[in-house]
Amino acid sequence: MLKQMNRPVMMADGQGGAPDENCTHDCSTCGADCASRDGGGIQKAKLNEHSSVKKVIGVVSGKGGVGKSMVTALSALAATRHGFKTGIMDADITGPSIPKMFGVHEKAMGSEFGILPAVTPTEIKLMSINLLTENETDPVVWRGPVIAGVVEQFWTEVMWEDLDVLFIDMPPGTGDVPLTVFQSLPVDGIIVVTSPQDLVSMIVAKAVNMANLMNIPVLGLVENMSYITCPDCGRRIEMFGPSQAEAVAAANGIKLLEKLPIDPVLSQEADMGRIEFNEGTQMESILDVLAGIGLE
Ligand code: ADP
Repeated sequence: MLKQMNRPVMMADGQGGAPDENCTHDCSTCGADCASRDGGGIQKAKLNEHSSVKKVIGVVSGKGGVGKSMVTALSALAATRHGFKTGIMDADITGPSIPKMFGVHEKAMGSEFGILPAVTPTEIKLMSINLLTENETDPVVWRGPVIAGVVEQFWTEVMWEDLDVLFIDMPPGTGDVPLTVFQSLPVDGIIVVTSPQDLVSMIVAKAVNMANLMNIPVLGLVENMSYITCPDCGRRIEMFGPSQAEAVAAANGIKLLEKLPIDPVLSQEADMGRIEFNEGTQMESILDVLAGIGLE
């Protein structure tokens, strides 16, 4: 029997199984949820028994407001357009924006087997704290470890069922939640999102170094809000000076996936909860990323 979920349930611990005898210890080419992924004895959370998730990609940024959720949503849309069964876990617990972008306002339902994600018209599965709190405007005033526990529950308690790829919209920075996600979920790689101003700082290097410490591959860099196209003459205007994305990607040994412009249509659609109906082809570069981790 289904019942409405309006609060997070107790955190469940779990552990991945022993690595397969053919294990190469290259987790970027393997979706198995095994103990070899933990990089040092930290327990892996156990995926809900009614779920099968082939690949997990974290979308990270050094600070808020650079378009991490937008890139997560556009990546999920591109993957879905190309036939992949896709989900989004909104791990940005204190600043969730994924449900609003997709126009999802209902509460999550649950059964004795777990919590059901929301399903959008194009069948992207979503889970966010906003589907569990009584009111969308309820603030989440929990300490880091509690928030991190909720994110882990999004893995252990949510019935994702059958997914090719789960995108995790991470909170900005390198705090408790990114650490929990990296340590206890089988992340196949991360995508780093920055704005042009951040490229000159050490934000990209920090994200890359954190991923390296955790043995998680960096699958690429996205420079969001890279330029604006003049509506009158079509000229590209780089408001923050010439882009440094290529140089920063090269300096950090990562691939530049895309430079996305500021697009007023995108922000309007996101505000109206209609991002799914955007007709652009942004983040098609995700297909190469997916192919690179074994999804074609
Ligand atoms: P973050 O997840 O990094 O905090 P968001 O993805 O929520 O950032 O984006 C912040 C705001 O900027 C949102 O209102 C979003 O709609 C808008 N936005 C993000 N990327 C673009 C873009 N390329 N063009 C126009 N608006 C954008």
